[in-house]
Amino acid sequence: MDHLSEEQLTLLRNALVETHMNLTEQLAISKSAAEVVNLDQSMVGRVSRMDAMQQQGMAVSTRDKAARRLRRIELALAALDKNEYGLCSQCDEAISYPRLQAQPEARLCIDCQSRADQQ
Ligand SMILES: [Zn+2]
Repeated sequence: MDHLSEEQLTLLRNALVETHMNLTEQLAISKSAAEVVNLDQSMVGRVSRMDAMQQQGMAVSTRDKAARRLRRIELALAALDKNEYGLCSQCDEAISYPRLQAQPEARLCIDCQSRADQQ
């Protein structure tokens, strides 16, 4: 990670910590929304029941995404602590600072990422 200055690393760490906080909060708030829909008499008719199930499905997939991103952020923070941050986990090349700015939890360089996206 010689390609990143102390200052850049500090900024990236701050960004990671902040996103980590936001996601943790988001997951806590959405917890009840993702919980199993109660299909009891309080639901009137079939339409509102399907509505509720659809909403629950959306809440679950949003939570899944947030949880996966949280996991990547935790890995990035761990990599920072081990001085292994900013290197592509596939080819070991340095990940450019602009890319890390846009996505501090990125674990692949642009080349490996676009190859992974194509698969
Ligand atoms: Zn790579």
